[in-house]
Parts: sequence; structure tokens; C-alpha cells
Amino acid sequence: MTANDSLIAENLGRVREKIAAAAKRSGRTADDITLVAVTKYVGVEEIQALQAAGCSHFGESRPQQLWQKAAALDPSIQWHMIGHLQRNKVRKTLPLVSLLHSCDSRRLLDTLNQTAGELQLQVPILLEVNISGESAKHGLEPGQVQGLLATAKDYPHLEIRGLMAMAGLEGGTGAAEADFEKLRKLRDQLQKNCPACASLHELSMGMSRDFEAAIEQGATIVRVGSSLFEGIDR
Ligand SMILES: *Cc1c(COP(=O)(O)O)cnc(C)c1O
Repeated sequence: MTANDSLIAENLGRVREKIAAAAKRSGRTADDITLVAVTKYVGVEEIQALQAAGCSHFGESRPQQLWQKAAALDPSIQWHMIGHLQRNKVRKTLPLVSLLHSCDSRRLLDTLNQTAGELQLQVPILLEVNISGESAKHGLEPGQVQGLLATAKDYPHLEIRGLMAMAGLEGGTGAAEADFEKLRKLRDQLQKNCPACASLHELSMGMSRDFEAAIEQGATIVRVGSSLFEGIDR
């Protein structure tokens, strides 16, 4: 085990403890929360260190990086695509991912469904919502999601599992918490008219700086990157 490997294992242990504590505060257990280790900052060795320490879900925000890392690593890894996906990268990405977090437009959903059909895949997805309203952020407008869900049966090759969002950059933890609460309330509202072919169980929200607040607000999936790699030599 290298020095980096042990630092990564320690960092992971600390993040898991915080996840367990936040889950408990929200009346749940650590098993109710999936940790997606975001590896966009690191290479194959760091991912292997996390795997050895018990991590099995990994997230990338750029498709090319996901392709390269998936090709170099153990096929048992569950990959999560968490960044904006251009339509011309869909065909190569779909066979690799266990959950696509970033479905942010109807055009992308159309392409995903068509390509998944051609590849004979059923693809689990989340609908990304621009909950903070920041113009630089990708995502559906909160008001668009209801209409989209109503047409979920038009996407037979996609399995809608829930919603994903990022908190706004401004305003610190308090503002982030308010964004997470908004997403949960939107989900609760949408659930009243959710078609049987879709589910809104999953809430993918929270990153290194705010994952505890996200869990307290109902996150079922957190996407944590930098906290796992603190102090390592690159
Ligand atoms: C990079 C990234 C993360 C992880 O961010 P950290 O602050 O490094 O934990 C989470 N979600 C998305 C969409 C990202 O791009």
C-alpha cells in the first residue's frame, strides 16, 4: 500500500462516518445512501485505491474520461455519468454507465431513448434540475419536469429513477440546504402524478462541501470528489 493509498482509505473512512451520522440525523442509515466517488481529478491508481477500500460506485463528468477509465479498470465498477452529455457522445457512453445523472433536456432524452433501443439497453437515468436557477448551470427548469414525466412512457428504453441537482455556488451551506430542500419538495410534489413506469425515489444531491446537508434534506445519492483526495501526492 502506498502513502497515497492509505490517505485515500482514511479520507474515505471519514466521509463514510459523516454520511452515517447525517443519515442517522435524517432517520435513516448509511445503507440508504449511495456514495458515488467522483474521480474526475485523479487517475486509475487512485480509483483502484478506493476500490480496494470498498468503493464500487464511481462518477465522471466528462464522457471521454469515463470511456478511458472504464476501459482501463475492472468491469465490476458501477459508473455514473454526472456531467453534461453531448448527444454525439451518447452511443459510446450508454453501454458503460449504471446510472446517468445528467439528463437535462428533452432533446437529450429523445437521443438517449433512441440509441438505447438500437443497442438493446435499458438505461437508468435521473432528470437533472436547475434548482438554483443559476444561468451557467445545466438542467431542466423545475416547471418543465412535470410535463416531461407525463410523457415518460414515450421513453421505453429509459428508466427514470429520480432527480439530480447541484446547489448554487453562492451563499454557503445555508443556501445549499435551501436548494436541496427545494429539490426534495419538487420531488414530493411530482410524486403525486408520477406515472407507474417512472420512479422518483432517488435524489442525487450533495458534493464535498455540502453532502451532509444534502443527506439531512433527503439525498439518496451523494457525489463526493475532492474530500476523498485531500492531501495526496499527484
Ligand atoms: C465534480 C463534481 C462533483 C464532486 O465535487 P467535489 O466538490 O469535488 O466533491 C459532484 N457533482 C458533479 C456534477 C461534479 O461535476
